[in-house]
Amino acid sequence: MGLRLYNTLTQRTEEFRPLHDNIVRMYTCGPTVYHYVHIGNFRTFAFQDVLRRWLRARGFTLDHVMNLTDVEDKIIRNAVAQGKSLRDYTAEYEQAFLDDSAQLRLERAERVVRATEHIPEMAEAVRSLEQKGFTYETEGSVYYRIGKFPEYGKLSHSDFSGIRAGARVDKDEYEKADARDFVLWKARKEGEPYWDSVVGPGRPGWHIECSVMSMKYLGETLDIHTGGVDLTFPHHENEIAQSEALTGKQFVRYWLHAEHLIVEGQKMSKSLGNFYTLRDVITMGYQPEAVRYLLISVPYRKKLNFTFDGLKAAATSIQRLRDFELRLKTSRFADGRDAKVDERSAHALRQFEDSLDDDLNTAEALAAVFEYIRDINTAMDAGDFRLGNVDGALGLLERFDEIFDVLKPTTDASSISEADVETLIADRAAAKRARNFSRADEIRKELLDRGVVLEDTKDGVRWKRK
Ligand code: AMP
Ligand code: ZN
Repeated sequence: MGLRLYNTLTQRTEEFRPLHDNIVRMYTCGPTVYHYVHIGNFRTFAFQDVLRRWLRARGFTLDHVMNLTDVEDKIIRNAVAQGKSLRDYTAEYEQAFLDDSAQLRLERAERVVRATEHIPEMAEAVRSLEQKGFTYETEGSVYYRIGKFPEYGKLSHSDFSGIRAGARVDKDEYEKADARDFVLWKARKEGEPYWDSVVGPGRPGWHIECSVMSMKYLGETLDIHTGGVDLTFPHHENEIAQSEALTGKQFVRYWLHAEHLIVEGQKMSKSLGNFYTLRDVITMGYQPEAVRYLLISVPYRKKLNFTFDGLKAAATSIQRLRDFELRLKTSRFADGRDAKVDERSAHALRQFEDSLDDDLNTAEALAAVFEYIRDINTAMDAGDFRLGNVDGALGLLERFDEIFDVLKPTTDASSISEADVETLIADRAAAKRARNFSRADEIRKELLDRGVVLEDTKDGVRWKRK
């Protein structure tokens, strides 16, 4: 059996096959860049990373698009409040997102695209929907008439047939209970950014952004569309309504949604204020790979309860894996090859792969690896593990790390840059010249805490990383 994935649309776990050849056309709703992304958001992006890696391990080629939502209600509110242009406001958070993603070893999608760079296409799509009779206009804003799309509700499995015609919603985010005709194009408002377009001056609604960017790059029918569960309604429901009204074709074949990361029973979110960014957690002394491990250790369709104990346990698990790798690579094993050990390695590999094929069951995949490590350590202690068995064991670890990617330590995550070291050394020299020796000592200690050792020589100060 091949890879099986749970499809929100059909509510079934289905064998995955791309529409064309072995190329997977996949779209991910990226972050809204109005703030630092928190580790709850990263749970969803980490799931996508596992999906990408496992699809590739199974021989597929990826064409993956992730958007950056850089125009939307919250961004405009904040940018206007700070008197900044949209671009100036979002640039910092966009870069932070890309940097944090890299720290978490999340592969970059083949294409990362900004909403603001597709405004004319979005306006064209709105006009097309107008021409097909799916919209109406009120005071310069254009709305999607959900009553015109009989399948509205098919993704969130809700019956919206009783909805009062003509009731509208202008906000980008709202609850199922507020299902209404939603806004496609928002009329220009005094003091807000706007674009002149074929449907008049204004700006796109959030939902049309993703329909347009996904179909532009991936065609009218995508293989996979992903996001967090909170996007199922209204965002993805609206994407379907827009895209299928435009093309008359199925928009997405497999809809995949990641469950939330929660804190004390509640979704981690900016609005609740119960969030940590990756930067927060790294400052507290945790390694990014421990965060990565924690985020992907729970299968993506289960809620993940975030605790610092969980993060510590993740770090311990990574250490066990690294210790095992070190033992494999540095011990002197007796010549020969033990058939039982080889069989054990092959079995663990099968279990690992079967678990991931089963809708990316990362918890079972990890269990297979840790049981294996326990058994092999026992075999090593007993002298049963031979030189010829090393390859099989390393092969399993390699396969594991293709997906989990936690074996290599992050060397410079929290470490100080060369330029900062030089600055502090100069400060220390100045402090000494001023005979402020306590300050000079303080700087030496600060550098030491950050992994830098100073050595005073007759040629000046030399430094190295611990
Ligand atoms: P946003 O920037 O709010 O559009 O969110 C970016 C992604 O993170 C979306 O796919 C959300 O569904 C997802 N997300 C938001 N909060 C959480 C959470 N607590 N746990 C997991 N995913 C989340
Ligand atoms: Zn989206």
